[in-house]
Amino acid sequence: MDQRKHPVILTIDDEENIRESFRLFLEDYDYNVLEASNGQEGLEIFAREQPDLVLCDLRMPEMDGLEVLEKIKQQAPDTPIIVISGTGVIGDAVEAIHQGAWNYLLKPIQDMSVLIHAINQALERSRLIVENRAYQEHLEEEVTRRTEALQKAIKDLNRSHLKLKESEEKYRSIFENLQDVYLEMRLDGEITEISPSISSFTQYRRESLLHTNVQNLFPSLQDREHLFARLKAENKISDYELYLLDQDETLIPCSLNASFQSGETFQDDRICATLRNITERKQAAARIEYLAYYDALTELPNRRLLLDRLEQNISRARRYGLYGAMLFLDLDRFKNINDSLGHPVGDALLKEVAQRLLHDLRAEDTVSRLGGDEFVMLLSDLGTNENEAAAAAQLKAEKIKNHLAKAYDIDGHELHVTPSIGVAMFPSSQGEQESGNDILRYADTAMYRAKDDGRDTIRFFLPSMQAAADTRLAIEKELRYALERRQINLFFQPQVNSRGDIIGAETLARWEHPDKGFISPATFIPIAEATGLILPIGEWILRTACEQLKNWNDQGLDITHLAVNVSPRQFRQPNFIAQVQGILDETGADPTRLGLELTEGMVIDNIVDTIEKMQALKKLGLELSIDDFGTGYSSLAYLKKMPLDILKIDQSFVRDIETDVNDAAIVDTIISMAKHLDLKVIAEGVETRFELDFLENKGCRLYQGYLFSRPIPKDQFTELLRRGTTLSQD
Ligand code: C2E
Ligand code: CA
Ligand code: CA
Repeated sequence: MDQRKHPVILTIDDEENIRESFRLFLEDYDYNVLEASNGQEGLEIFAREQPDLVLCDLRMPEMDGLEVLEKIKQQAPDTPIIVISGTGVIGDAVEAIHQGAWNYLLKPIQDMSVLIHAINQALERSRLIVENRAYQEHLEEEVTRRTEALQKAIKDLNRSHLKLKESEEKYRSIFENLQDVYLEMRLDGEITEISPSISSFTQYRRESLLHTNVQNLFPSLQDREHLFARLKAENKISDYELYLLDQDETLIPCSLNASFQSGETFQDDRICATLRNITERKQAAARIEYLAYYDALTELPNRRLLLDRLEQNISRARRYGLYGAMLFLDLDRFKNINDSLGHPVGDALLKEVAQRLLHDLRAEDTVSRLGGDEFVMLLSDLGTNENEAAAAAQLKAEKIKNHLAKAYDIDGHELHVTPSIGVAMFPSSQGEQESGNDILRYADTAMYRAKDDGRDTIRFFLPSMQAAADTRLAIEKELRYALERRQINLFFQPQVNSRGDIIGAETLARWEHPDKGFISPATFIPIAEATGLILPIGEWILRTACEQLKNWNDQGLDITHLAVNVSPRQFRQPNFIAQVQGILDETGADPTRLGLELTEGMVIDNIVDTIEKMQALKKLGLELSIDDFGTGYSSLAYLKKMPLDILKIDQSFVRDIETDVNDAAIVDTIISMAKHLDLKVIAEGVETRFELDFLENKGCRLYQGYLFSRPIPKDQFTELLRRGTTLSQD
């Protein structure tokens, strides 16, 4: 670029008043201003006038700013371009920076000094680049020239020593004043020359490096070998990026330009190189990368990164038959806060909201801010059952809703906000190949429905899912009062030996709802578990079962084993052992007659803690069984370590004994495994004579199932106990 007295600035903008205001302002600063009212005209003027800097609007009819930017970049890559963008199109600005714009300004420009500052800065940087390049070229020429001179001098010893010395001195001065590092080495890696400027960005001094091996500076063998190989093949290499290891072990990113200089003999072959510290360039690149994928205010992923992850999630979900959910959150009446308390308070609130959302996140989920007060939560891998996944998404949404509704303390203001949340599940059960954008739109639509329905609510995109969610919510609400309203009851199902003699019973919960009738534990126990209601309910069941056990024994009715189901959340309570102990003490039930049924999943979850707890329960005298055995993933190794008494073969295997050879084989294996581990084994769900005979044949001796008795109310079970057998009516 020639250094013109008055730099020429081209402004491309379709709005005449903006061009006009730029021109009037910039002319005051002695800039020559050219104007173009559209991209095409801008490019023509650019080609003709070669301006020193371009100011370009991003949103223009016909040809938009990004296209103008691209064309100018092709023609004159070094011309500084500053893009001007409206606040609604920040994404375009980031994109423009990606495509090589030097800077961007947001419209309207209220403070013109920002404009002048950006222009001066860009022109200064442009000048430095040009200067630096000229200097670099000059340096390279110098190096070549000097090498030739040296070779000549060696060949022609008669040449004047004086001349050589002059050349040497000139070279020295360049060498010593370099900003970049000049480096010369032999092919075996010995450093034969290095400029003092190495001290400008490392802790090394020239003298300590001379005649050492370059491998100390560049520890990566792979980088070195690659570099040497390319130099041998191409003689010259530019902008080769590698890491330099400083004396204090920090790594400094560098860019290297090098050429291969062949000498008289193999011994004299050299690699001459210049080395530049590119830490700043790297940091700038990282910052831009960050801006392109993250929201600057909350540091959450932005829409772009979210959609990226969403696409990945959708394809994984399709491949493995998994379900995930997208929660779209919008804060209710956030604008009021912004308007009445000001943007700084609004921003602080958004940050706090982001923190709360992050807090509620599992590692595999993503929370993102789309802009304004809109947040999105991507929940992945919610399991392979769509209804259960929807239930999990609903629970999560409720948890978030409650968490966000808690008071905020921002700058001494106590603030309250509620979210409206829309939920969309993916992939959709219709099997449509919807994109990430589609899912996001569904969730957005659902969120608007939540707003329409009075805000501070959760709405599913699909009406069928909304109906299921309403049911779950209703059950959850009523479950809260089920205990105190005495709607929960215990039934007992006999456990028998081959002769049908009662050797024990399993306690099964029943919920008798005044309007809805009987609600299955298969429906309400998972809801109780998910909401934490299982803790009071489970405690009540255990206490009631113990009271009953004591009562039967006091009546002289000999029941030797009463099993109670324990759900994972109950078992994981830190004070679970103390609770069991307390209940046994209060009720006076005989601990050796009490059994607890645990499931495989909870036993595997935290093996050390589990075994400790199981041992403590054994010490109290209880019997422990593994419920639904075979459906989880217990390994023999775990089982061996656990103080167990009973395996319960899951009823799904028993049901298919007749038709499925695999299930028959599994049952066979479980029975022999139990024998091997010296455990009792009970088969659940025995409904037919055939099943009984099969099990008997394989060595199973204990049974539970409709063949003998359904779960029955207390009084009926008391009757059975009096008789001692379930088979009397046969
Ligand atoms: P589970 O522990 O596997 O209980 C056995 C289930 O199989 C019971 O269903 C029982 O009624 C049923 N059943 C028994 N024999 C037969 C049979 O021959 N054929 C068929 N088809 N079914 C049979 P229920 O009572 O509906 O309980 C379902 C599940 O709910 C239980 O499965 C258990 O996981 C849970 N549950 C029930 N009561 C409680 C409780 O008090 N606490 C906890 N934590 N969970 C409970
Ligand atoms: Ca059970
Ligand atoms: Ca079971």
